[in-house]
Amino acid sequence: QSYKSVALIVGVTGIVGSSLAETLQYPDTPGGPWKVYGVARRPHPSWLAKTHVEYIQCDVSNTEETKSKISPLTDITHIFYVSWMGNEDCSMNAVMFQNILSSVIPNARNLQHICLQTGTKHYIGLFETDTSDTHDSPYTEVLPRLKQPNFYHNLEDILYEETGKNGLTWSVHRPALIFGFSPCSLMNIVSTLSVYAAICKHENKPLVYPGTKASWHCFVDAADAELVAEHQIWAAVDPNAKNQVFNCTNGDLFKWKHIWKVLAEQFRLEMVGYIEGNEQVSMAELMKDKDSVWDEIVKTNGLMPTKLKDVAAFWFADIAFQCENVLSSMHKNKVHGFFGFRNTTTSFISCIHKMRAYKFIP
Ligand code: NAD
Repeated sequence: QSYKSVALIVGVTGIVGSSLAETLQYPDTPGGPWKVYGVARRPHPSWLAKTHVEYIQCDVSNTEETKSKISPLTDITHIFYVSWMGNEDCSMNAVMFQNILSSVIPNARNLQHICLQTGTKHYIGLFETDTSDTHDSPYTEVLPRLKQPNFYHNLEDILYEETGKNGLTWSVHRPALIFGFSPCSLMNIVSTLSVYAAICKHENKPLVYPGTKASWHCFVDAADAELVAEHQIWAAVDPNAKNQVFNCTNGDLFKWKHIWKVLAEQFRLEMVGYIEGNEQVSMAELMKDKDSVWDEIVKTNGLMPTKLKDVAAFWFADIAFQCENVLSSMHKNKVHGFFGFRNTTTSFISCIHKMRAYKFIP
């Protein structure tokens, strides 16, 4: 088969990487037909096998390994960088991205465009940082950088420098909280909540909301992983999107109290939700001794073998369940011609159904 475009997805097992791998293979995807290389740290997972990605297991924080495995891929036309190292260290995250660009740019003569995924932390600061210095929402792409270290700044600076020097185009994508199905993501909120619900079910407990009262009642926005993939592919091929930063959300709003009801229905649980007067209880703390409970759930339901720490990031839910008014504007997208959207409730349910179909959750 002859291909029109050749993608390198860095972080192909992740929450957006896996959706990119799927979406790039549809016959009507813009820029196609696409050949797809996918890079991740772990061995090729069996659930990804049906996407026909040319899989490259590589630790991209290792400069020599990245050079030897990635520089021979001379036919790459587009890079989709949807990775991070799993912590917010600025220099190591920068090394990973630089290793990829230094391996691809001098060798891939037809390279055109680089998509870099960062996120809403651009506006609110890193998880580890004091969050009093944040922008007021709704966030627009023109807001200046916060005056605090953030690996997103390091990644953007590398992107601007390398594309500027080499006559390439770029786009930066800032998704909201992502709803996706990957069991290998370091931050998958739908999988985390599904696992929490499955454990409540297994232990015959009602579905209590452990977050703050304010987070239970306020508006939140999310971004479906397939929509984020479509957003990046749009920017990769559409001239109206070149050299721009874009937020990415579903275009609607939700409240955790509404999603909680859906979660309870999906797992046939008694819905309790937020208990009036309660302070936030850490989910990471609540779930810290549940590894063997998850092993038991996996066994009794004949699920794909996974460990609790891989399918649930309770620390991440703890952060989500204390956020208030973290909302991004999609106005600039419309001005530049991106009109994609999702219904967030439908997205939440379809992620659960997909994870069930793959036997990641009961
Ligand atoms: P993810 O955690 O779902 O996936 C990370 C991918 O990177 C995996 O494929 C993993 O194997 C790969 N990876 C990690 N370290 C590697 C290494 N050393 N070598 C090779 N591959 C490696 O990723 P994500 O959540 O899509 O995060 C990407 C960016 O998106 C981050 O900057 C994150 O902050 C941002 N973001 C995430 C969310 C979310 O809800 N998950 C929301 C908004 C923004």
